Amino acid sequence: AAPDEAAQADAEDEQPTGWVEQITPGRFTGQTVIVTGAASGIGRAVASRVAREGGRVVAADISEEKLGELAATLTDLPAGAEVVPVAGDISDQADVERMVLAAGDRVDALANVAGIMDDMSAIHEVTDTLWERVLRVNLEGTMRLTRAVVPSMLTAKEGRIVNVASEAGLRGSAAGVAYTASKHAVVGLTKSNAVMYAKHGIRTNAVAPGGVATGIPVPGQAEFGAPVLRPHQINILSLATAEELAASITFLLSKDSVNLNGAIIASDGGWSAV
Ligand code: NAD
Repeated sequence: AAPDEAAQADAEDEQPTGWVEQITPGRFTGQTVIVTGAASGIGRAVASRVAREGGRVVAADISEEKLGELAATLTDLPAGAEVVPVAGDISDQADVERMVLAAGDRVDALANVAGIMDDMSAIHEVTDTLWERVLRVNLEGTMRLTRAVVPSMLTAKEGRIVNVASEAGLRGSAAGVAYTASKHAVVGLTKSNAVMYAKHGIRTNAVAPGGVATGIPVPGQAEFGAPVLRPHQINILSLATAEELAASITFLLSKDSVNLNGAIIASDGGWSAV
């Protein structure tokens, strides 16, 4: 590597944020939380944190193998905590019904984290196949899970839903037209839910991550500028960690976010403030 790259790699190795997870014991005790995309990256970190804070987690993901790995790592959980893996596709209605069935009578909170990237196509390049695939997972999957959990929340007169949008849901992005449109739509879905269910005690908020080091395949990573220093980030690290995103998301999933509804929280170290 060129000297600059080597120095940057060293700096990153030596430069943890200094932040450590502030586990709140019992924050989710007695609650059932569905987390999609729970086998990898941000969803995995959310599932892990909710379980370690006492919750019963329905861990939903299309990757059965990686879900097994998650359950195997989460041993020694507090009393009442549990991880129930459910393999399935969030864009498939029958699979979504199985996920919600696994939750039992009541769903206290839902984290719609699962999502896919696109191949960075601009609109004159986008194929029907790519457009439909990205919209089906990122938008329709979020709609299907939400539609399936709302009845139990209406009965309980309480519930929290957290959607994962993106920096690309807040402004134009080179991430691709399908991805950018899907994440803007997730923002719209979030605000619509917030308004429509406010009087029923159901709060819906979204987190818009900036760059996060996860397993999400990013086509043409070099074009995005793989790990770069962003001086405006508070922690001046290049990419956030999945655990840092989970800290934002679990706050919104918890009852402590009581006064937030329809909020789109940029969890990006300040990127979108510039
Ligand atoms: P990831 O690839 O590590 O995790 C995504 C998970 O979703 C995977 O386990 C995958 O198997 C699962 N999944 C994909 N399609 C599915 C489907 N149809 N049904 C069920 N599960 C499915 O990615 P990540 O970075 O943790 O991404 C999580 C969310 O964060 C996504 O919505 C993504 O768009 C968003 N996001 C990520 C970044 C980033 O830089 N990583 C930035 C902004 C937004």
